[in-house]
Amino acid sequence: ELLLESVFLSVDPYMRPYSRRDMKEGDIMIGTQVARVVESKNPAFTVGTFVVAGSGWRTHFISDGKDLQLIPSSWPESLPRSLALGTVGMPGLTAYFGLLEVCKIKPGETVLVNAAAGAVGSVVGQLAKIGGCKVVGSAGSDEKVAYLKKIGFDEAFNYKTVTSLDEALHKASPDGYDCFFDNVGGEFASIAINQMKKYGRIAVCGAISQYHDSMPQKGPYVQVPIVLKELQMEGFLVTRWNNRREEGLKALLKWVMEGKLKCHEQVTEGFENMPAAFIGMLKGENLGKAIVKV
Ligand code: NDP
Repeated sequence: ELLLESVFLSVDPYMRPYSRRDMKEGDIMIGTQVARVVESKNPAFTVGTFVVAGSGWRTHFISDGKDLQLIPSSWPESLPRSLALGTVGMPGLTAYFGLLEVCKIKPGETVLVNAAAGAVGSVVGQLAKIGGCKVVGSAGSDEKVAYLKKIGFDEAFNYKTVTSLDEALHKASPDGYDCFFDNVGGEFASIAINQMKKYGRIAVCGAISQYHDSMPQKGPYVQVPIVLKELQMEGFLVTRWNNRREEGLKALLKWVMEGKLKCHEQVTEGFENMPAAFIGMLKGENLGKAIVKV
């Protein structure tokens, strides 16, 4: 066994629906961290090594090593290890596999992504640009919109201040969208689906606008546009490609090192501020990946 100490912890949207569904009061909150080995009786993990663990909201924990993922010793000195929870970690992989395997993007296509300035969305937009697509993103503040333009989005708008979401989507791409990477669901998705091109693909990655609902939201329902435009709409979990994790991380790390994939983190200091960071992320206070530094 080994003793580990959390260095960075992640706050992620999935914690909201999963904790509501699976946890009871008093349980340790679910979550992942970058942790440092402080004592070890396990030869695979020497003291001082860094790993990604899924040990929940804890400063210290004991592990038998089975579910730990080593951060490679080749991890560049110039990169913060917290990126292993963001762009070069689960959210980056979500963008990578969602775009490649679900949207199946092709050069010249137009890709729409919402929650675009967040951990997943900001990678989606940049990878779609690397893949030769036109990219449209929406986000919840003017600062986020300015960031999206800075990192190469062709079009970006603040969905909270536009007078009509339908018009904003049309203005950004009058010909419609080949791919829609949906992080938000709900009303946004209901409107966007009508602007898909024929044979368009929708990757249903998340539905953050619905995670707080105690009653399910009602339509408009999706079947008519799906039929008339012959759309494909597929939900996915990043864990489907666990067997290709190394491939994805290698590609993401390479693009980061080449400067083609920019990363931004919203770092909250102090383990005691985990709840505030989590609630803040759900309210949209984060630009890029929300991280807590112990
Ligand atoms: P983000 O870094 O994007 O943070 C969440 C963002 O969601 C906020 O910053 C906010 O941005 C936006 N948001 C919050 N509430 C609403 C709302 N009611 N309507 C619209 N936007 C809202 O988080 P992640 O990048 O980690 O996750 C993005 C999505 O991807 C989530 O739905 C998550 O569940 C999903 N996901 C799915 C995975 C999978 O395997 N399928 C894996 C990882 C994530 P803004 O200011 O723009 O409103």
